[in-house]
Amino acid sequence: MNPPEDVLAALRELRAGDLPTHGGRTLAYVYDSGLSEVDSLGAAAHALASSANGLDPTAFPSLLQMENDLVAEAASLLGGVPGVVGAVTSGGTESCLLAVLAARDDRPAPSIVLPTTAHAAFHKAAHLFGLRRIDVPVDPVTFRADPAAMAAAIDDSTVLVVASAPSYAHGVLDPIPEVAAAARERGVRMHVDACIGGWVLPYFARLGADVPPFDFRVPGVTSISVDLHKYAYCPKGTSVLLHASAELRRSHYFASASWPGYTMLNTTIQSTRSGGPLAAAWAVVNHLGPDGYLQLAASTREAVSRIRSGITEIDGLRVLGDPISTLIAFTGDDGFDLFTVADEMKARGWYVQPQFAHLSSPVNLHLTVTAANHGSEKEFLADLAASVDAARAAGPVVVDPAVAEFVAALDPATLTPEQFAGLLAAAGLGGASGLPDRMAPINALLATAPAPLRERLLLEFLGALYTPS
Ligand SMILES: *Cc1c(COP(=O)(O)O)cnc(C)c1O
Repeated sequence: MNPPEDVLAALRELRAGDLPTHGGRTLAYVYDSGLSEVDSLGAAAHALASSANGLDPTAFPSLLQMENDLVAEAASLLGGVPGVVGAVTSGGTESCLLAVLAARDDRPAPSIVLPTTAHAAFHKAAHLFGLRRIDVPVDPVTFRADPAAMAAAIDDSTVLVVASAPSYAHGVLDPIPEVAAAARERGVRMHVDACIGGWVLPYFARLGADVPPFDFRVPGVTSISVDLHKYAYCPKGTSVLLHASAELRRSHYFASASWPGYTMLNTTIQSTRSGGPLAAAWAVVNHLGPDGYLQLAASTREAVSRIRSGITEIDGLRVLGDPISTLIAFTGDDGFDLFTVADEMKARGWYVQPQFAHLSSPVNLHLTVTAANHGSEKEFLADLAASVDAARAAGPVVVDPAVAEFVAALDPATLTPEQFAGLLAAAGLGGASGLPDRMAPINALLATAPAPLRERLLLEFLGALYTPS
């Protein structure tokens, strides 16, 4: 046997190669309260319950209690309307999947109506559960859902209408009351995806921000998702899906007594469910409480506002839409390459997330701002300005015309392993050394590929990554 301390040392060494999850330098994927006791508490609570199994709430009543507590907390934050029930899931995607699954019924060819800015989790839901997607264009400038167009898209096949509070890509709030009214008028369910905003917008409102209504107080809203592992600052692996009534929730529950084993009874996609993430979330939510979240929201709001106004002062940068909460997407003028700006930020110790162009949304960089960003806004903005200067000086990223031609001729449906290997090599991803430091040339090449080809290429790449050596 390997001594535990050696195994842990090896794990630490592996983790040292990751992006930092603390300190506010990684502006995607991670949510940092900046409070060290939040992490130690979450870890301790996780360890206390990780062997318990949510598969059977009668065997582990502690998990039942904690789940009911978290659902009650989320429900009180998101409207405090009586009758709301829910489920704790493994993450935002699972919450969105279940909202769609609950809405699906036995009518032929059911569909969901969603703005083009809705999270890709709904694309996954439609794919998995066999629903048609009706993607409705958003306002090309504000990136907010167009309620009239959404209303017009609802028909007899519609089982669910979706809107975001706010959207991930631009951080803008869809006009929830108008969209919900249209759904209600047609007797169709309406899901508000508040995965990223649900635990912070109510606190922004308490701090005086003008937050238009988006929760269960809006007539017509039938379900809301809110992730605990985002702005509730809980360890990864928890989200809440709320339903306006138990009746609406029933259809994502699953039972099977038709086999010789235990009667399988599931509230979510998972069957065996670790008590770890649930207990960790319960502990963090109980520790921080409304006062703690209000303080964290105040720091975050200050950080977002400083970073946003700082970006507008950097020559050539422009914020997309009018973001309402903690996300900022900004684009640049033609004088420099944004992917290069991301690389330059990386070289200065910051991770910012590139987003490809989609419909009216130009290529841009996306920031997820959390409480830990408060205090280093000036440093961030100085490095951003320096990165833009460096990108201007470096000039445009030129995709080799021969490679671009090769890519343009690829058909995602018939891409062969040989073609893919050739492309990886051309893109600089073919080596055994893992990812290159500079992603701009690869991103520039990927940007030339239409979305279906980009999906296929990146999935091939993923498969290559997930191949044990
Ligand atoms: C993050 C997010 C999701 C998906 O959540 P995961 O936890 O990554 O599965 C869905 N919708 C929105 C708006 C999000 O921001």
